[in-house]
Amino acid sequence: MYDAIVIGSGFAGLVAARTIARANKKVVLLEAQSRLGGRCYTSKDLFPAPVDLGCSWIHGYAEGTPVRDLVEELGIKATVPQKARSVVISQGKVLNPEIVSKLQSNQSKALEKASKSSGTGSLGAFLFSEHDAAGLFTSLSDEEKRQVEGLTRTLEIGMGASLERFSLRWNGYEDSFKGTDAGPEGGYSRVIDALAKSFTALGGEIRTGTPVLGVNPGASGEGVDIHTSTGNAESDDLSARLVICTIPLAVLQKSHKDLFQAPLSSKKVEAIEKTHVGQLGKIVLSYDQAWWPTDVGAFTILPTASPVSKEEAPLKDARALLNSVSLVTASFAVESSLTPHPTLLTYLPAPVAVQLEAMTTAQVTEAIHSLFLDNLPRAAGVKAKRPIVSELTSWSKDPYALGATSTPVIAADEVTPLNFVELGKPEWQGRLLFAGEHTSLNNRGSVTGAVETGEKEGKRAVRLLNAQT
Ligand SMILES: Cc1cc2nc3c(=O)[nH]c(=O)nc-3n(C[C@H](O)[C@H](O)[C@H](O)COP(=O)(O)OP(=O)(O)OC[C@H]3O[C@@H](n4cnc5c(N)ncnc54)[C@H](O)[C@@H]3O)c2cc1C
Repeated sequence: MYDAIVIGSGFAGLVAARTIARANKKVVLLEAQSRLGGRCYTSKDLFPAPVDLGCSWIHGYAEGTPVRDLVEELGIKATVPQKARSVVISQGKVLNPEIVSKLQSNQSKALEKASKSSGTGSLGAFLFSEHDAAGLFTSLSDEEKRQVEGLTRTLEIGMGASLERFSLRWNGYEDSFKGTDAGPEGGYSRVIDALAKSFTALGGEIRTGTPVLGVNPGASGEGVDIHTSTGNAESDDLSARLVICTIPLAVLQKSHKDLFQAPLSSKKVEAIEKTHVGQLGKIVLSYDQAWWPTDVGAFTILPTASPVSKEEAPLKDARALLNSVSLVTASFAVESSLTPHPTLLTYLPAPVAVQLEAMTTAQVTEAIHSLFLDNLPRAAGVKAKRPIVSELTSWSKDPYALGATSTPVIAADEVTPLNFVELGKPEWQGRLLFAGEHTSLNNRGSVTGAVETGEKEGKRAVRLLNAQT
């Protein structure tokens, strides 16, 4: 029997498992996929330099995130990129910086007003209300009103849902690590690999390709029994004194009734079922040469068409979907980057991420390339050729993620952020613990949340195990 079984090899699982192994306990980590890292995945060989298709930034790097301590301890360098120029594009034209400042000023005043409002309803309804309750549209022409709405909708990228799904009341409730972003050199997966190495060096065991199908309170009235499906009957069943489950929320939503073979508390079940999981995708295109200006680090491309409704979305082609949302494209060709390369990474926001990820990489590549040709300014003397290589994420289709991350509560629902606390509470008298980004009240949706809860539950497991001996 193991002291502990940890399910999932993302940041939460690896940090929890290592914390337990450090206390000289016998621990095994079970991962369904053939690779480690979960929603941390660096594409290492396809592009001229590694590109992160899941998490990419250490948020709150200068503000005290524990992820900084982790990467430093593992000997991985992280850098805060130098500020590069960013441009906003509307209807194929780069907006004059003075207009952008005017729009941004309205936007920040409106967001400030929203953060102080305790009104009911959605953040989107407040910001875009016809009578301009937030002041977003004050003193703007009709064209500028459309532009400021598009600019404000870029917030949907980080939120994982449209602004109309966000509660105004709970907007900005969290006390999270944010401010300065740093990127781990060589990609985020290096941190996962180093963590796994440090865990196994302590005697910890990792089994990949081992999906957990059943979690039972131990038949003997102690511990927990786990059933996996590796196809090898001899190693499919394991037991431990306790289990830490870091399975992502969307996967729990789909599988919790079959997975946990004894009841969970009704509050836990309600929190699992009602907490929202957001969507976010990425499409990355690499060219033989940068044909856009290399002093620009990010292009914000405002929508040219009205939002596509849920009903018509599956019928729309990729270009129509892309035209209907605000896009942010990061350029890795920017001169200030550590390893400049002619690659563009575009975030696919919630309103269209699922539909686009359901298409083929070739379809979405074609659509985004044509959108770039219509919108991005050109570098002098460089002809725009077709991309050489591209990659489209599939987080919404990945059976072990089924989405991007948990998101703050949706509007018109009685759920509150306290759901994130409920999701992290132990069950079965301390034999079944939970960690993962979705169990962090203040840092949900981030690597910080995964690391913080992995460490917290790893320490709890050690205390519980010590109390039993
Ligand atoms: C596109 C995108 C961009 C992001 N950008 C950032 C960013 O820049 N900065 C940031 O801080 N955060 C970012 N995030 C969020 C961040 O990636 C996650 O919060 C974090 O990686 C979650 O870690 P976790 O350990 O909670 O879950 P995961 O990493 O998802 O780990 C869970 C693991 O459980 C495994 N699993 C699932 N079911 C089973 C089963 N039945 N049996 C065994 N194993 C199972 C999965 O395969 C997975 O490996 C981003 C996320 C996405 C999708």
